[in-house]
Amino acid sequence: MKTIEVKTGRPYNIYIEHGIIKNAGKFVRDVSKAVRAVIISDSNVAPIYADIVENSLKENGFETSMFVFEAGEERKRLATIAKMYEHFFEHSITRTDIIVALGGGVTGDMAGFAAASYLRGIDFVQIPTSLLSQVDSSVGGKTGVDLPTGKNLVGAFWQPNVVLIDPDTLDTLPQKFFNDGMGEVIKYGCIRSKSLFERLERENAKDIIDDIIYECISIKRDVVENDERDTGERAILNFGHTFGHALEKLHNYSGITHGEAVAVGALTLTKITEEKNITANGVSEKISTLLKKYNMPTETEFSLTDIVKATKGDKKSSGKSLNFIFIRDIGECFINKIENDKIPEFFGIG
Ligand code: MG
Repeated sequence: MKTIEVKTGRPYNIYIEHGIIKNAGKFVRDVSKAVRAVIISDSNVAPIYADIVENSLKENGFETSMFVFEAGEERKRLATIAKMYEHFFEHSITRTDIIVALGGGVTGDMAGFAAASYLRGIDFVQIPTSLLSQVDSSVGGKTGVDLPTGKNLVGAFWQPNVVLIDPDTLDTLPQKFFNDGMGEVIKYGCIRSKSLFERLERENAKDIIDDIIYECISIKRDVVENDERDTGERAILNFGHTFGHALEKLHNYSGITHGEAVAVGALTLTKITEEKNITANGVSEKISTLLKKYNMPTETEFSLTDIVKATKGDKKSSGKSLNFIFIRDIGECFINKIENDKIPEFFGIG
């Protein structure tokens, strides 16, 4: 078993082990004296894993209940959170009880937000079952929901009590969703780890998935410990995301996954910074080759003008400027602030 300690305001451990899901109740019991545990999951994940987790929770003395919502980003709304609150009330959930998020990013973000806000905050546990959530979204304490006008616009910082990662759950993950996670994995290589990037080039990601998960989370842990509230260094995790979010918006949030959008966003941006000699020669070619190796998109039907226009209103904008993350070389990144009125000029669009 691999263990990663996260020293945020409320510290917690992340455990990575094959089959850990079967013993989830024991790990939850180690961090909680709760009487009741609510499993929150979606209609894709619940039929496969909910019983396993529920049985383990019962064996460890928890009274359990389950809240299952229909799978899909479209459900990541306040209306679903309101239904969770009703469930908590009906099942007499108190401040000392615990929420167990079992599923991908949407499940973790929503269960975390419900936990952060119900009774002004109750404990919660993350059991991420998708690659995206295992390498990225289950760690760092960002929780929230989408608004009709944009993704993740309402939320809270709320750290889990423990994160349990079972790489075996990836065996049931459709290829499209594996790729979704690979977009973030490649991002981690680009911003902080040349060695990870080179291993992805040399080997097959699925063969070294435990190491990949460990490495990505370790990078995220280091960044989050330095900047839990996202006021500085944490911005580097956003490499590829400013254009990525713009692409997701242009696609009306369907047909392209978050990770795919981040991948194309990172490549599109790096081609430009390479032309401007901000990035070393040949870096965008390396990223492009790696994306192709993992069957990720490298091009978009949208023009640079469309993409740049769609970055308007990005939630990472602060005042009159927008932070872009550039890479100098694989594994080396920096934050570059551009004034809003200079953005078209920087990207050479009219
Ligand atoms: Mg992301």
